[in-house]
Amino acid sequence: MKRCLGGQKVVGSRCALPRRAARANGGAVVRAVRNVDYPEALLFDCDGVLVDTERDGHRVSFNKAFQEKGLDTVWDVELYGELLEIGGGKERMTAYFSRKPDEKPFSDLPTDEEKKAFVAEMHKLKTKLFMDVIETGQLPLRPGVKRLVEEALANDVKVAVCSTSNENAVSAVVRVMLGEEIAKVMKVFAGDVVPKKKPDPAIYKLAAEELGVDPARCVVIEDSRIGMLAAKAAGMRCIVTKSSYTQEENFDIADAIFPYIGDGEDSQFGLHDLTTPGNLWLNPPLPMASANQQSEA
Ligand SMILES: [Mg+2]
Repeated sequence: MKRCLGGQKVVGSRCALPRRAARANGGAVVRAVRNVDYPEALLFDCDGVLVDTERDGHRVSFNKAFQEKGLDTVWDVELYGELLEIGGGKERMTAYFSRKPDEKPFSDLPTDEEKKAFVAEMHKLKTKLFMDVIETGQLPLRPGVKRLVEEALANDVKVAVCSTSNENAVSAVVRVMLGEEIAKVMKVFAGDVVPKKKPDPAIYKLAAEELGVDPARCVVIEDSRIGMLAAKAAGMRCIVTKSSYTQEENFDIADAIFPYIGDGEDSQFGLHDLTTPGNLWLNPPLPMASANQQSEA
């Protein structure tokens, strides 16, 4: 395939140059007659991207567990945001109850062993309730997710989910919330399929390899800094759609940042914006492996 300035593929006798580049090139402004530079694959993180898992899933499940055990404890969105600074569900409950001397029955338990057993039991119940929340469709998709997945599939762009969370939970989110038809074609890379979690790029490298796509032509959607670092270290574009608890994180090397994907008039971007070069990107275009190979030939 022929290429013109900037490495864009040539469509017929035309080339999809941005206006400024075309003028600088001394040529007339031309437009692409069809788009040949969609990404080869769209890779979605799960937690915080497909669904707002912490706010709408884990937090809700903790509250259901408290209620089921007759506790008055309710973790609202703001309080849960503070508690997220403590990693791990059991540790989070232990820290919360320990600093609330009036929280029964925890405060009445005489020994550390009994306190530990209480927290373990609560956590087991919460974990079961979390899967119930997903399986019964109570964990809503974030706005625009389904639309973007459908746009990608309609244009032969591969879609996959890359998460280092529990595979059962991720697959259930895809199956229940995006539907069986999409679940058949949306591959899930999750759980312990790679030895290192994000920010290591392993999960994204594995996805590109298994899907047979060029990492430079993959667009990743992430909601957190560690996810963004993983995507960029894999040599991919990364769009950040911030979630409830990642608003203040540093997204300095993101290729684009949005509050969400969005639908209808509130749509922030669509597949047609994800072209290379395109106007969406904050960073310069990535070199395309296929273009490099061609120049060496
Ligand atoms: Mg995430």
